[in-house]
Amino acid sequence: ANFKDYPLSNDILKAISMLNFKRPTSVQEQVIPAVLEQKDIIVKSQTGSGKTAAFAIPICELVDWEENKPQALVITPTRELAIQVKEDIFNIGRFKRIKVPAIYGKSPFIKQEKQLKQKTHVVVGTPGRIIDHIERGTFDTSKIKYLVIDEADEMLNMGFIEQIQTIINSLSKERVTVLLSATMPKDIEALCNKYMKEPILVEI
Ligand code: AMP
Repeated sequence: ANFKDYPLSNDILKAISMLNFKRPTSVQEQVIPAVLEQKDIIVKSQTGSGKTAAFAIPICELVDWEENKPQALVITPTRELAIQVKEDIFNIGRFKRIKVPAIYGKSPFIKQEKQLKQKTHVVVGTPGRIIDHIERGTFDTSKIKYLVIDEADEMLNMGFIEQIQTIINSLSKERVTVLLSATMPKDIEALCNKYMKEPILVEI
């Protein structure tokens, strides 16, 4: 396949070509068209497969630039991964001028609050800090249409499953959910069954 085979706008194709991505990886071949069609997906795959761009490309394509409230939320287990994912999304969305703040713990709340007050398309963050912002009313989740749960098995290992559920329960049911995990423990399967609609399973 070729990135040009997908219904992607020039701003996104230009960014992909600037990143020097010649062809979609196999996880991208399966995930990009499915997310563009608003399908829920479980991705069982490791780092290095191109999994971040697999969800970042369709989400950057789908968000409405005109909308000021955040439309996509990516939950990651660690601040390091949040920063990495934010950079990847920024790079893919740069010509569309996608705004993508990262919100994580041990970093000033007020700075993140300011970013969340401005135009924001995609929010990337760690569970505890996401909940803080939702509870304090500084993160408006009413327009979130795309939810990504990245490295779900890591989040389970770190004891974040209840927090993930709290976050999901604050979101609209009218949404697309993408869950990524290297392994599929029972608790992650249960999470998928509870919160996803007829998910497609992609295994790499
Ligand atoms: P990830 O699995 O998301 O951690 O990505 C692994 C690495 O592959 C990152 O450095 C990406 O920039 C790179 N990458 C992602 N998609 C492609 C692609 N289609 N072609 C070449 N490199 C890619």
